[in-house]
Amino acid sequence: MAYTYFIMKIPFIDLKSQYQVLKPEIDQAIQKVLDHGQYILGPEVTECEKALAQFVGCKHALAVASGTDAAVIALMALGVGPGDEVIVPAFSFIATAEAVVLVGATPVFIDVEKDTYNLDATKLEALINKNTKAIMPVSLYGQTPDMDAINAIANKHKLPVIEDAAQSFGGTYKGKKSCNLSTIGVTSFFPAKPLGCYGDGGAIFTNDAALNDKMSKIRVHGQSARYYHDMIGVNGRLDTLQCAILMPKLKKFPWELEQRDRLAKQYNEAFKDLTTKGVVLPQVKAERFSAWAQYTIEVPERDKFQKRMEEAGVPTSVHYPRTMADQPAYTHFRDPNQDLSVSEHAALHVVSLPMHPYMEADHFQHIVKSVKSALG
Ligand SMILES: *Cc1c(COP(=O)(O)O)cnc(C)c1O
Repeated sequence: MAYTYFIMKIPFIDLKSQYQVLKPEIDQAIQKVLDHGQYILGPEVTECEKALAQFVGCKHALAVASGTDAAVIALMALGVGPGDEVIVPAFSFIATAEAVVLVGATPVFIDVEKDTYNLDATKLEALINKNTKAIMPVSLYGQTPDMDAINAIANKHKLPVIEDAAQSFGGTYKGKKSCNLSTIGVTSFFPAKPLGCYGDGGAIFTNDAALNDKMSKIRVHGQSARYYHDMIGVNGRLDTLQCAILMPKLKKFPWELEQRDRLAKQYNEAFKDLTTKGVVLPQVKAERFSAWAQYTIEVPERDKFQKRMEEAGVPTSVHYPRTMADQPAYTHFRDPNQDLSVSEHAALHVVSLPMHPYMEADHFQHIVKSVKSALG
């Protein structure tokens, strides 16, 4: 029996199987770009932006170089800078706070909800003051936060909301797609995200034409006419090649989202008895659909669990082992009186299992068996 464990090589995410399925379309799309040679802002960029906007149901989409650039460009367009505060959940990938610091503003950390790991809207209003310039919730692991509650507070204080949807592209909230739930939505096409390209990439979404215009200029060095720069910008374009690769992937994406959701439900069903052993399973709230960027559970003794999983040949990963407020380069932004205990607890206990749309049945069985014996 042990022998089969060794011949089974279980990937954490499986980009090779996806490429095999889409190979003819992707190869053709790449070849087309090589043939026309318009590598920067070529025709595929506009085509891809149209397809992305249509998928999200949003008026405007801009393809950019990464999810981090997407957030930086959004903050720049909103005029966020030195002296300004931006409220971000303490529990996220570092890029959320990093983007705020890169524009010269101060990240203000807020704790997250126990069940979704997303910004706790009940604690939001207490952090808003005259320096607050924006709120940047994160849709962690693929599920959006309570956007109605966040937007209501933001509207009351006339603050813009940037949804960091780097992990939730394809997710929905009350029938609307993630990225289209606030002033601006930003996402990432890093290869391991729900929709990934073959390198770094990202996109920005808004229904505000003036904001979109501003962001499209910022993306190209603040240029409004050739070599005429009336704004400070960045080089934040997404390559034509990456846009060409994204389009066939986007066509397959709705099917992939269904597979991710099915796998998550199968995991939850298989693990439901483990909750008596202190395991916490991911829950998707009513009227939300998760893009399942990660399938993440909480276990009491994580180091031991990960070691046993490794021995069984199952890769696991921790997203994230520290809150952003506890990262050495960010601790000085932390208000010592601020309670971030839910984030801190999550950082110590969360662990993600393999999650991708091309999971084979025998791999699934092996993962389930390994999780159960690792906790036994
Ligand atoms: C991946 C990620 C980003 C950054 O995206 P990149 O494309 O890697 O720059 C930002 N926020 C969150 C929550 C992410 O997971």
